[in-house]
Amino acid sequence: MEENRKVIIFSAPSGSGKSTIIGHLLKRVPGLEFSISATSRKPRQGEQDGKDYYFLTEEDFKQRVSEDKFVEWVEVYQGTCYGTLKSEIERIWDKGNTVIFDVDVLGGVSLKKIFGEKALSIFIQPPSIEVLEQRLRNRGTETEESLRKRIERAEMELQYSNQLDVVVVNDNLDTAINETETIVNNFLNGK
Ligand code: ADP
Ligand code: 5GP
Repeated sequence: MEENRKVIIFSAPSGSGKSTIIGHLLKRVPGLEFSISATSRKPRQGEQDGKDYYFLTEEDFKQRVSEDKFVEWVEVYQGTCYGTLKSEIERIWDKGNTVIFDVDVLGGVSLKKIFGEKALSIFIQPPSIEVLEQRLRNRGTETEESLRKRIERAEMELQYSNQLDVVVVNDNLDTAINETETIVNNFLNGK
């Protein structure tokens, strides 16, 4: 059981395609399970509490920080926090599954430091900032203000690509999914 306690970390700026690629991966590779993060942001249309995130108020989030419930947490955008609950990792490992994280680059670097050899960290790289912005616009989930914050932060986050184990460029989606699947299978098979 111990040797099966692995984690796979997906990090990248918002809009790079992490959720899309993870969604396909979960269907294709058995034994993977998504770590549901906690956040103080409001749910988007279609998002479910306890599936996409644990949606908390700012007060509840801070309460859990003070109780040391997070393995890592980051104020990704001013006033909006995201964090990985320790209980999520235990929940997933107890079932013998591999944990999949979708976190910002700072969270990704922290998790890699914590889990070391047990962790594979993957940076999902958009073809360019312009394409990233266009994809975020097309997704239709952001206001002009939140879009601006995401693009601003993306410029910093893109500098972190060399701190993760591998980089997958998400230009053509099918190519990126296939490439990710191969990398993940090699890691799971100890290659
Ligand atoms: P993230 O989880 O990193 O914020 P998403 O998976 O939500 O990113 O992707 C952002 C948007 O870009 C979504 O609307 C998604 O459908 C779209 N998208 C993802 N990958 C591609 C791609 N290779 N080509 C075109 N659009 C893409
Ligand atoms: P979104 O609001 O688009 O769902 O997420 C915004 C950013 O927060 C993304 O880069 C996402 O990966 C990141 N994020 C989500 N959950 C966590 C988490 O638990 N920890 C950290 N550090 N970042 C997270």
